[in-house]
Formats: sequence, structure tokens, C-alpha cells
Amino acid sequence: MSPHPGDPDRSVPGVLWRRDPRGAPIPLVVDSPHNGTDWPDDFDHIVTEAELMTSVDRFVDELFAHAPAVGATLIAAQFPRAYIDANRAEDDLDLALIEGDWPLPVNPGEKTEFGMGVVRRYILKGRPIYGRRLTVDEVMRRLETYHRPYHAAVSEAIGDAHQRFGVAFHLDCHSMKPVGNAMNVDAGAPRPDVVLSDREGVTCDRAFIETAASLLGDRGYRVGINHPYKGAELVARHSDPAAGRHSLQIELNRALYMDVETFEKSAGFDTLKADLDGFLEDLADFVMDRAV
Ligand SMILES: [Zn+2]
Repeated sequence: MSPHPGDPDRSVPGVLWRRDPRGAPIPLVVDSPHNGTDWPDDFDHIVTEAELMTSVDRFVDELFAHAPAVGATLIAAQFPRAYIDANRAEDDLDLALIEGDWPLPVNPGEKTEFGMGVVRRYILKGRPIYGRRLTVDEVMRRLETYHRPYHAAVSEAIGDAHQRFGVAFHLDCHSMKPVGNAMNVDAGAPRPDVVLSDREGVTCDRAFIETAASLLGDRGYRVGINHPYKGAELVARHSDPAAGRHSLQIELNRALYMDVETFEKSAGFDTLKADLDGFLEDLADFVMDRAV
């Protein structure tokens, strides 16, 4: 079970926790949609917990825990992304997974072909998560109880920042395996330390991604841009750079801070955490320079 360290009045038990800024707020929202390990009672998966853990961005909420101290709002999911994935559009749905007639329009994307839509089909290549189809009611409940409240929380935090400062910056935080697996577009390829994504220049001003890249590069990290990750639903849905809403996706290489077999922290965790504390402090300076 994950700790529940959010502000009680701003968190949704079992769904997400939210921590507001300590001290003066700045227009920065940090979110971690994939760290959740509270397996819901009705998950009904047929895979092992170790297989499920491969899809969890473990410790990402902890790695960015300094965010409220620099004035940012921090939001983290408690539900597992293998159950319902907040980083996919709700219409990115594989109808082959569903029993009965789905009542809403669908628009499956290319990730769905790999079994990684809003409801995930495979945990690893050739390993279906479920032994049956899910009912319309089950999938609808996952959307209504988890996916929509998560997006509502991110939207509210970004909206509040934008209203107050005329601009809002959003960092959507993830982890990646050190080498792409057979379900990834870069199967077999070693990855850099960090990948930053803005959907090829769509979800933020260049200054935001370039500043983030140089702050990480200065700390000795090898930074990739838009490959093998381009950025997904969180940054797509909540950004509008022309209106001053800038979203950036960040993927941290798990080999920096955890044992990818046991899912426990490694000796590198404290170094990465300290570097990310400094990164957030420097990013806060950038954000405040841009606030109006
Ligand atoms: Zn992720």
C-alpha cells in the first residue's frame, strides 16, 4: 500500500492525493499518474503482482516530493495504471476487451494496438491481464471513479495557477525501463537517463523544454527529446501554449534509482532525489520569471 500523504481536504481517498504549496505558490503543477499500487478489489487480473509492478512508475511521487516546497502543487494517483490509465484518452479504448455494447465513441490510438490503451490488454507481450472480457459497467466505473477525477484534479490545479498568474506550467512525471521491451517502439534499445516530451513542440513553449533539458544536462544526465516517448494524454489534454498553459512530460530511467527486478530503491535513489530537488528549485525560478 502506498502512503497517503496528501492534504486531506484536497485528496480523493483511494484515487489520488494532492499536496498544495508550502509557502508562496508558483504556477507549477507536478503530477505522477502511474505510481499507484493500491490494487482495487474488482481488478480481477490473472497476472502476478510482479508482472503488474513492471507497469508501475514506482517512487516517482517520492522523487518529485520537493515540489510543494518550491511552491508547486503535487498530485499523484493511488490507483494502478494497469487498471485504468490516466495517461490515455478515455476514448482510446480497445472494444475487443469489452463485453456488450460500449455506449460512447471510441478512437483507439497506436498504443492500443500494443495493448496499452486506457484499459490495458497486455501487461507484457503475450501476457493478457484478464481472463475474460470486462463489462461495460466495470469499464465505465473505472472511468468515472478514477480517470475523470484524476483529470479533474489536474485541470483544477492548472486552472487555478493560470487564473492567478496568467500562465501555468505542468510537469507530468513518469519512469521508463532502461531498455525498451517488445511492447515498446524502441524494443531492445538502451534509453537515456531522462526523456522530455512535448509531442514534437506542441504542448509547451520551446523555452520550457529547453530549460528543463539544460538544467538536467548540467547535472550530468543524458537527456533525450521526444524519443521514444512523444508525450501522451496528460500533456496533450491540459496544455494550450498559445493561452499560456505549458505541459511537459518527463520520463526517468529506472536504472538510476531502483532495482528493476525487485522494484526496490537502489543506492542511486538519494543522488537522483537530491538532483531533482535542485532541478525543481531552478525550474521554479524559470516559472516565476514567466509569471505575469
Ligand atoms: Zn508512466
